[in-house]
Amino acid sequence: MKNTFTLAGVMGWPVAHSRSPLIHNYWIDKYKLSGAYGLFPVAPDQLRAAICGLRALGISGCNITIPHKVTAMQYADWIDPCAKRIGAINTIVVQPDGALHGYNNDGFGYMQSLIEAHPQWRADTGPAVIVGAGGAARAIVVALLDAGSTEIRIINRTRSKADEFAHKFGPAISSVDWEDRQEALAGAAILVNTTNQGMHGQPALDLDLKCLPKDALVSDAIYIPLETPLLKAAKLRGNPTVNGLGMLIHQARPAFQAWFGVLPDVDTNLYTRITATI
Ligand code: NAP
Repeated sequence: MKNTFTLAGVMGWPVAHSRSPLIHNYWIDKYKLSGAYGLFPVAPDQLRAAICGLRALGISGCNITIPHKVTAMQYADWIDPCAKRIGAINTIVVQPDGALHGYNNDGFGYMQSLIEAHPQWRADTGPAVIVGAGGAARAIVVALLDAGSTEIRIINRTRSKADEFAHKFGPAISSVDWEDRQEALAGAAILVNTTNQGMHGQPALDLDLKCLPKDALVSDAIYIPLETPLLKAAKLRGNPTVNGLGMLIHQARPAFQAWFGVLPDVDTNLYTRITATI
């Protein structure tokens, strides 16, 4: 008998804080589907067994989150070209023949969140400045390049990681010394914080915005809190802003479609429900 109950979840360590179950189970209810999305706390030394166990358990796939996004790639049978460029996966889809396909939807989620908040915004209107050079930065840089960005400045505390971006992603990328971060904002059309600075429990991002044009879009990948000190400072001087919640919600859409067969809409009720938990 065909199993019509679809199971998916998120693997991370720790993972209890994840809002992904809220998002996917909301859509399961909304579209009256038969299935469930759960939390899979998987310690690093169990990652291989957990991923290989997906097909044996009849699970449709999973999201992959911190700290597994890079390591998980080696256990997939096929990696989407965009995820290869990013160098990490955040989604696994088990194929009908049992093969494990890896994707990274973080950059897609990021671009969709910008378009949702500011439909007129275009990537080719001016330089982008990215603070941070970790996994989120890689996904966002790939998405911005694909959307038409021709100049991206990477500012990172550890300069060598910003230099790696320039080497990996080509001439549109330049790396900026941490000490020069304030001046690097001159003429920018968009500023993106991809560090953990400003996250609940962390100090604010140490960045003075005085050189940033007043019409530059300021976005933060962080969604706890929804308004980081960076976004608050940007709003006060009149810059348009976007927080990280839209990125989280929108990255979930293609994965949901792959597992449950429906491309879900993002509605205000979903934002309200998640916001209530933050
Ligand atoms: P990651 O790979 O660990 O990168 C962290 C970055 O933060 C690195 O560039 C690191 O710089 C920088 N950093 C850490 N402490 C710093 C400090 N004290 N001062 C300056 N820079 C510092 O992490 P990630 O996966 O890219 O995630 C980064 C952020 O994005 C997190 O807040 C995460 O929650 C968020 N995120 C959001 C979404 C979403 O859906 N909204 C998705 C993914 C990630 P060094 O290289 O110098 O260490």
